[in-house]
Amino acid sequence: MNQSPRLRSLSVALVLALAIPAAAQASTEASTGNEAAQARAIVKNLLKDNAHFVREMKEGHFAGLKKGQQPRATIVTCSDSRVHTHALDKTPDGDLFMIRNIGNQHATGEGSVEYGVRHLHTPVLMFIGHSACGAVKAVMGGYEGIEPAIKKELDTLQVPGKNTKDDKEVMDSVQANVNSQVANAMQKYAPEMKAGKLTVVGAVYDFRNDYKQGNGRLVVVNINGETDAAKIKQAPVMTK
Ligand SMILES: [Zn+2]
Repeated sequence: MNQSPRLRSLSVALVLALAIPAAAQASTEASTGNEAAQARAIVKNLLKDNAHFVREMKEGHFAGLKKGQQPRATIVTCSDSRVHTHALDKTPDGDLFMIRNIGNQHATGEGSVEYGVRHLHTPVLMFIGHSACGAVKAVMGGYEGIEPAIKKELDTLQVPGKNTKDDKEVMDSVQANVNSQVANAMQKYAPEMKAGKLTVVGAVYDFRNDYKQGNGRLVVVNINGETDAAKIKQAPVMTK
């Protein structure tokens, strides 16, 4: 549906008005602190970027999305703000079924992963860890006293190593975490894998060049449980 710019801005205003309850609106108006000004600027900027997106995208783009989704891959990444889909997919819309949580975990996103694998039937399930993962570092260093909901999501992370500032040790634990997520998923989706319908991949988004393959490289470290780099290179999904 094509909307005029005026109608569009009216729609946005209406959505915002509906989304903010009266009490919250009153407290927003009463608040004059720096935080309120900052939040206003952030929301304004997000809506501005969205308006730009709406202007730039061709109508055919949305017509395709309205028909439904047939994503190619179910992807589990960390929620970390430095990790985003544009690093691995030029056109992620309708293409990647995304699950994000702290530590890119199967356990804390299990239902969502299952939806991608068993309802959307994506042929690939990929877990993506990343350089300097805060969740991994938290588990390595101990997280006593942290809020219960966060603790619950860290309790399911199994990583080796102890509190350290050594980047290599952290990266080893990031990779070990990816491997354990792949192993968990392989247990659950053994029937799909046996039927040749699913490949489970583990990767690390290396924005700090810890693997010496270039800043921002997506390094595949595990394919269906295989972690040997030479064998990964020869795996059918990696060869032409
Ligand atoms: Zn992380």
